[in-house]
Amino acid sequence: MRGMPLPGRRGFSSAAKNDILSNMAQRNSTLAHLKAGYLFPEIARRRREFAAVHPGAKIISLGVGNTTEPLLPHICAALTEGARRLGAVETYSGYMDEGLPELRGKINEIFYQEHFGIDEIFISDGSKCDIGRLQWLFGPGARPVVQDPSYPVYVDGSVIAGAAGEGIETGYQGITYLPCTKENGYFPDLSKIKDESLIYFCSPNNPTGAVSTQRELARLVEKARSTKSIIIFDAAYSTYIRDPSLPTTIYAIDGAEECAIEVNSFSKSAGFTGVRLGWSVVPHALRFSGGESVHADWARLQATIFNGASNIAQFGALAALDAEGRAEITALTDFYLENARLIRTALKALGIECTGGDNSPYVWAYFPGEQSWAAFARILETCHVITTPGSGFGPAGEGFVRFSAFGHRADIEEACGRLAKL
Ligand code: PLP
Repeated sequence: MRGMPLPGRRGFSSAAKNDILSNMAQRNSTLAHLKAGYLFPEIARRRREFAAVHPGAKIISLGVGNTTEPLLPHICAALTEGARRLGAVETYSGYMDEGLPELRGKINEIFYQEHFGIDEIFISDGSKCDIGRLQWLFGPGARPVVQDPSYPVYVDGSVIAGAAGEGIETGYQGITYLPCTKENGYFPDLSKIKDESLIYFCSPNNPTGAVSTQRELARLVEKARSTKSIIIFDAAYSTYIRDPSLPTTIYAIDGAEECAIEVNSFSKSAGFTGVRLGWSVVPHALRFSGGESVHADWARLQATIFNGASNIAQFGALAALDAEGRAEITALTDFYLENARLIRTALKALGIECTGGDNSPYVWAYFPGEQSWAAFARILETCHVITTPGSGFGPAGEGFVRFSAFGHRADIEEACGRLAKL
């Protein structure tokens, strides 16, 4: 295959540039409302800046939530086999739309005890992508509510969808922020939730590492129902929950299927951050305030702007949910939980107050009297360790720093040793 030759890239005169600009398609004005730089590119920029000044420093990252350990053998073999199947005429498959029926059934069995019909489970290329697309269901009229701090896509996606209103110093006027603080045990006061809101809720939480109890989630569901609100429940870290009394899904709560969508993913459980596979649950019982079916709109929207997840990834996910695959998931998440325990122990030995890291891969550390970015800079300068400043997740994250347990064991141990210099 030979591509067509392209003309050379040349600079235009300013007159020609102006002429071109006056004829171009307009930018979506909501993009201009996004606050400066997405958090992680900003951290990467600061890391590059530090490395340029300290070329010999061995920087260890406990910053991003990206998995580091290789795929485990049983799951990896299924992915390889999935690729082989696409290479043979007898087993080749093309678009699979909402997903492989066996996989939808297996997710229903393992995560929801077959509570749903398989058409209520939609396979996707990841939960972040689903959250982005779900925002199209509600559009600029949505009334977003977020935990503060929270995973940035809830806020930034709302801004892009035109639902966030004016940017103000502490966030956006159109978004209701529910502070999750030391004082309230990282479960927010729900009384600020207004009628017909769209509530983003994440448990186990990124970034605080807090996991909501059955009773807390029951209060959330009750509030959503009484305000005719819809919850988008992000359960991306559910496989990190070890305490059997903690709910791994919002549907463990009575009545949740009438007020909640759930998203989840194989990213943090099976190490699929680079493979890409997730799912959403949109129950038939869920209705918009006008009585229309959310399920019908989601099916229509997905069919319009999404052509299904990778078939190879789906074959891998199917293996991840059989007995051997589930044992691999447990081993992998146990590994990261042990990293989290090491980090928490190292911080506590220094008298640094922290939470999370027992049923989640994030440790949320408190640096009283210090701004998050200042603590980030001090840890980088002193220990050559990258973290994530809590304020990047929302105003109530100020004074906190997030440590991620995604790392090789040797790096985690070395980073923990270096933290003693703080
Ligand atoms: N939800 C939360 C809370 C996350 O922290 C992340 C990734 O860090 C995601 C969703 C994205 O997951 P996925 O890889 O499935 O898009």
